[in-house]
Formats: sequence, structure tokens, C-alpha cells
Amino acid sequence: MPVPPTDLSSRALQLLAETFGHPAFRDAQGEIVVHVAGGGDALVLMPTGGGKSLCYQIPSLLREGTGIVVSPLIALMQDQVAALRQLGVRAALLNSTLSARDARAVEAALTAGELDVLYVAPERLLTPRCLELIGGAKIALFAIDEAHCVSQWGHDFRPEYLQLSVLHERFPAVPRIALTATADPQTRAEIVSRLALDRARIFVSSFDRPNIRYTIVDKDDPRTQLLRFLRDEHPGDAGIVYCLSRRKVDETAAWLATKGVSALPYHAGLDTATRTLHQGRFQREDGIVIVATIAFGMGIDKPDVRFVAHLDLPKSIEGYYQETGRAGRDGAPADAWMTYGLGDLVQQRRLIDMSDAAEDYKRVSTAKLDALLGLCETAGCRRVRLLAYFGEDSAPCGNCDTCLEPPQTWDATVAAQKALSAIYRTGQRFGAVHLIDVLRGKEGERIGRWGHDRLAVFGLGADLDEAAWRGVFRQLVALGLACVDHEAHGALKLTEASRPVLRGEQPVEMRRVAAGPRRKSASRAGAPADLAPAAAGLLARLKAWRLAEARTQAVPAYVILHDSALAEIARRCPADLDALAAVSGIGATKLARYGPSLLDVLRAGDDAAFGAGA
Ligand code: ADP
Ligand code: ZN
Repeated sequence: MPVPPTDLSSRALQLLAETFGHPAFRDAQGEIVVHVAGGGDALVLMPTGGGKSLCYQIPSLLREGTGIVVSPLIALMQDQVAALRQLGVRAALLNSTLSARDARAVEAALTAGELDVLYVAPERLLTPRCLELIGGAKIALFAIDEAHCVSQWGHDFRPEYLQLSVLHERFPAVPRIALTATADPQTRAEIVSRLALDRARIFVSSFDRPNIRYTIVDKDDPRTQLLRFLRDEHPGDAGIVYCLSRRKVDETAAWLATKGVSALPYHAGLDTATRTLHQGRFQREDGIVIVATIAFGMGIDKPDVRFVAHLDLPKSIEGYYQETGRAGRDGAPADAWMTYGLGDLVQQRRLIDMSDAAEDYKRVSTAKLDALLGLCETAGCRRVRLLAYFGEDSAPCGNCDTCLEPPQTWDATVAAQKALSAIYRTGQRFGAVHLIDVLRGKEGERIGRWGHDRLAVFGLGADLDEAAWRGVFRQLVALGLACVDHEAHGALKLTEASRPVLRGEQPVEMRRVAAGPRRKSASRAGAPADLAPAAAGLLARLKAWRLAEARTQAVPAYVILHDSALAEIARRCPADLDALAAVSGIGATKLARYGPSLLDVLRAGDDAAFGAGA
């Protein structure tokens, strides 16, 4: 007998509060839960960290039988299952990491109706044995996570995903929910057709990640800038630093380690054991900084990554958004920080121009790079620009560098003319470093050798410093007013668009390069940084308690309680179990399990304060 939706929605809310400890659904979560729990199919498009898991976990609990979750991320299943068990949910997994004996025990539990949620690897699910097993059990729903893996054009393609339509054929009465964080319409259409989801309701969430603060700084001395960012804004926090090359990853990680940062390298050139070790430490320990190429990505599900830093420019806005999206999945404030300079632009253009790819592909790649450059050079809100790229309208966000400290623009027409003249007068054969020396009138062997000290432009730009000129050349290239000749080692050349500027027919407006280090960021609501000193001390003790607990149980720290929950406890300092239950993330099971020891930690703090005062 179908359950009326209103009843479902009140039961869903009750489960959300009691089991998961959250007071309210986010965005479309509630609607999705009711739809699927009521037997409907769904396709859910939600950004990373949006809260996709609850969309199938709660219906699995509301419906009779077991929810089967198909996921390609075997490495994560263990932690997902551990996290659910912490909440008192009967969860298990079936994948190749299990011994035959353990697998049989899980199968028996499924058949006996003793599981709420079962995670299964797709290749396992598709075996005749497993399909038969499922046929003999009561199934609440099928959840197909990372559904974009069916897309043959995407970089996460998994051939087994194509066969998942068999679920619909064999079990037509069981509702299916497919979930992905990939936004583009083409992938969406592919998921619908390949998984036979024609009757599914499609839920598209906003792709905004409001807790992530976007910052793009002018590249000056990138390592030092990075270190300052880590020390000023993220001491002791977990984060990811992306670099383009393996060598730079190794060098940066080693250098950070000499500066006292717990940094570990990760790239495809390291052996599997080292990679697994480093990823495992990042996932489980507190405050590890991973320095990585983009090989580090898919399957990173750590909710408390507090920053993602880019030392090199990614290839596209999609790449940038996916990589930065790994920050702040827990909803607490996080940073996406990038250094960007002329060198990045030259390098990325070069990678495209020098590749063997077809012309079409090069054209698309160039357009994607240009969109990213537009984001880097904009004087407007970064978020507005990002979301517009994904087809969403928005208003200035107040939580990006350009909103917080609007960059000044200046009339750079004359500077642009000088720079373009310098390019022209030196024969379009030199890079920015040399051109800047010429403009600033720097005497030297190199300048003398070429006779550039006798040019009319020599010393013509002494009014601007080196950093300002770097900004001018970078923006000229980004705006297409000059271009890079890769055959000639990155020499700058004029373009068609240079002429009207040189002739004084077209004014040029540019962003002013920020002088010196940027102000320390404005404090933000919810950030541990704005905890009172006493609460900050308490937070440190709560973290120590959590670490000990996580070690005893051999699970990642966040599985016990999220950073955001600990911060809320430190801020509110609840006096009893009832008050503790009001903290988001503490459901009935966690309250019973950890409530008393949490209160002990809080009281120990009182004693310490008392003792110190006496
Ligand atoms: P996704 O799979 O979409 O990346 P998750 O399901 O892992 O996201 O959820 C991201 C984070 O948001 C988790 O830490 C989860 O506990 C939290 N979360 C999800 N839904 C809610 C909610 N309704 N209220 C509070 N926190 C939530
Ligand atoms: Zn903004």
C-alpha cells in the first residue's frame, strides 16, 4: 500500500533529525527523498558536497528492504560504511577487498533482510551470482552513484556502467536514483538514455558552493606566496596543492616540509604503495597537505579539506571547478586559492599549440582556456563569472577576493602602447623579462649586446615597477592584444588587435596589480578563527579527544564527528545531553555513544580554567 507523501516527508524529517542529527534538508534533498521513497526514479545533479548521499540513504531506510548503492570508488566504501554504522545504520559492502568468507556473511545478511544499505562495486553487481542474490532479497532501491561514469566521452568512463541498465530490465519495480556532480547537458542526456531513466524526475541543484572563497593572486614568488597563505590562513589544516608537473610536485612538497608543513607528494610517477600511503594519511590524519598533480582527484571524499591551492593554471573552468570543489564538502568555510601569471598563460597556450591533437580539439581547448583567463582577469565577482559559465545567473557574492577587495582598474592605454612598441622595436623576438628590462632602462650585458639601450623605448617605462609591467604584459596576452610565439621560445608578438591600440584608436583598461601581500582575510562566520580564545582551546581538546577515538576504532577522524560539529560544540559549550543533541551532526546513536565523554571533555575544561585561576 503506497504511503502518502506528507506522511513520508514527516517520517523523512524525523529520520534526518534522529539518525543523522541534522535539523533540516538542504535545497531539493527533501523533495528527492520523498519522490524516491515513494517509488519514483530520479536523476540528481548536485555539486560535490551538496549532500547527495542522504538522497538515497534516507529512502533506503524509509522503504522496506535494502538500498543497493553502486559506486566505482571502492577505496571509499569502507569509510562510507563506517560512517553509516556510527549512525546506527546497518550498512555493509561487497567488493574485491573482501575475503570470500566475509563476502558470504554479507550475502547471508542481505538475504535475511538484516541490511539497510549495501555498497556494491559495479563489476561485482553484474555477476550472475550477485544478480541472483539480489533477486532473492527484498530491495528498497538502486542508487547509481557517480552516474557520469556511463559517459563514453567523459574522463571517468567505466565500461561496466553501460551494463547497469540490466537493473531496470530485471527489477522493473525497484526505484532507481542516479547521482552525479557533472553538470553539462550532454552528459545528462547520456545518463538518461544509457541507464534507461526516461521516466526519472530530474533534480538540478545550483552548482554554487557558497562556503568556498575564491581568490586568484598575481604570481610573484609563488612558493613564498603559498607558504604565507598556509601560515596566515590555514595553519594545521588539511588541504591540497595542485601543480602541473611531477617534478614541481616533488620539489614543492619537499620544500614545504622543510618549512614545517606536513606535506606529502602524490602523482602518477610514484609507486602504488607510496601513493596509497599518502592518500591514506591525507584521508585519515588531521592536517596533512597533499601536493599533487591532477592524478589526485576522483575518489577523494574527505569532507574537511579546508583549502585547495593551485600553483599552476588548470586547463579549463571545468577543471578548476572540479579541483576546487574538493574543498569544504562539510559546508564549513574553505578557500580556493590560486597564483596566476604570464608564465601560466604561455605554458597552457603552448601545451595546446604544440599538441598533436586535431584542429577542432585545439579550438575547443583554446576557447576553454580563454574562459578561464577571463575568470582570472575579471575585475567583477569571481563566483558570478564561474556560475555564468555553467549557465547560472547570480549576484555578486561577497565571498571572493574581488568582492572583498574590489580591484582597481586603470587607464593602461599609454602603458599598453609602450609595451607593444617595445615588442615591435625589438623585432618580436623577446619574452616579457627582457622587454621589461628594456622598458625600465636596465643597463646590462644582454641589453647592450642587442643594442636595445639605443632604442627609443629604452627607459620609457621607468614610471612603473617590474610587477606592474608583468601585469601589463600578462593582460595584453590574455586580452589578445599580443600573443606568444612558441616556436621562438615564448617570444611576444603583435596581433591584428594590437594595431588600433598602437595607433591610439582604442583605449585599454587593466586591473591594477595588488601591491604587496594581501590584507589578512576578513573573518567569516563559522570559521574557527573567530572563536573566542577559550572556545579555541576547547576546540583543540575536542580534536584531541576525536583523534584518540578515531585511532581506537581505526576510522578517519571525520567519521566520528565533523569539524563543523566540533566547532559548534566549542562555541555553544552545551551543559547537558539535551543541549548537545541540538548540535548539527549529532543524532541519537552518536549522542548515546559519545555524549557522556564529550561532556567530560567540556567539564575537564572548566576544571582546568578553575585550577588556573586559583
Ligand atoms: P556529496 O556526495 O554530494 O558530495 P555528501 O553527501 O558527502 O555530499 O554530503 C556533504 C556533506 O554535507 C556531508 O558532510 C554531510 O554530512 C553534509 N550534509 C548533507 N546534507 C545535510 C543536511 N541536510 N544538513 C546538514 N548537513 C548535511
Ligand atoms: Zn564575489
